[in-house]
Amino acid sequence: MSDTTKPIAIVTGASTGIGRELAKEAARHGYDLLIAADEPEIEEAATELRGLGVKVEAVQADLSTTDGVDKLLAAAGGRTVEALMANAGRGLGKGFLDQDWNEVRGVVDTNITGTIYLIHKVGQAMRARNAGKILITGSIAGFMPGSFQAVYNGTKSFLNSFSWAIHNELKDTGVTVTCLMPGPTETEFFERGHLMDTEVGQAKKDDPAMVAKTGFEAMLRGDGDVVAGWKNKLQSAVANVLPAAVTAEMHRGMAEPGSGKQ
Ligand code: NAP
Repeated sequence: MSDTTKPIAIVTGASTGIGRELAKEAARHGYDLLIAADEPEIEEAATELRGLGVKVEAVQADLSTTDGVDKLLAAAGGRTVEALMANAGRGLGKGFLDQDWNEVRGVVDTNITGTIYLIHKVGQAMRARNAGKILITGSIAGFMPGSFQAVYNGTKSFLNSFSWAIHNELKDTGVTVTCLMPGPTETEFFERGHLMDTEVGQAKKDDPAMVAKTGFEAMLRGDGDVVAGWKNKLQSAVANVLPAAVTAEMHRGMAEPGSGKQ
């Protein structure tokens, strides 16, 4: 039985990649955890995290659906959620018109709809207590039109913007909202998003543990956002001043199918 009085941290998408490393950071900081992902692998992550000496409960739920998010919320029960790391997300390569519609829909429903539904519910409880920390995994991809990853970049643009908006709305409360914006990171993201034949899919990428540590520390400070890694800081600063036509063409070079083969 879980202790219903001790505060917990929720980490979504904690089975692999950045989310799994965020969960490790939270465990090292003494948080009991409620972690979630769509596939059974989440149980294996829970076992590893328990080895760090904290209580861990795992929920297998499709967070692109209202029912899936409700299942996660039900598992939290009445417990105080001290920190929410809304990290679950997926990418999708290829030209927009060549993508499978159900996969397109899954990207929007996971990255946007499920994410903001969860934040809406947990955020209301945090505001009522006047305390809590929210970390949203956006992306530097949100700074540029994502030719050959158009829908994904759009969802991250949404999250980057949304995160700052609610950070501002809650500035006079004890609730902080931080947006973690990673650059390309060595996770299962590229394989799952059919991006392995692209330049970005094959390039050397950041360590997810470094990315998670950067994001977790920014969340603890209550920063509005953080870009992980100096190269990505530079790239996002440049992307913010270049015309969209230029960054869209740059993105084509990284994400067009076949761009990684030569
Ligand atoms: P990853 O290894 O593929 O991890 C994605 C996590 O999200 C997995 O735990 C996955 O679990 C979960 N997830 C995806 N769809 C879900 C759904 N519908 N319901 C429940 N869980 C779901 O990739 P990652 O790179 O760590 O991605 C984590 C976050 O970082 C994402 O939001 C991504 O957009 C963002 N990001 C990644 C990069 C990068 O280069 N890797 C860069 C910038 C931002 P299941 O396998 O169980 O579905």
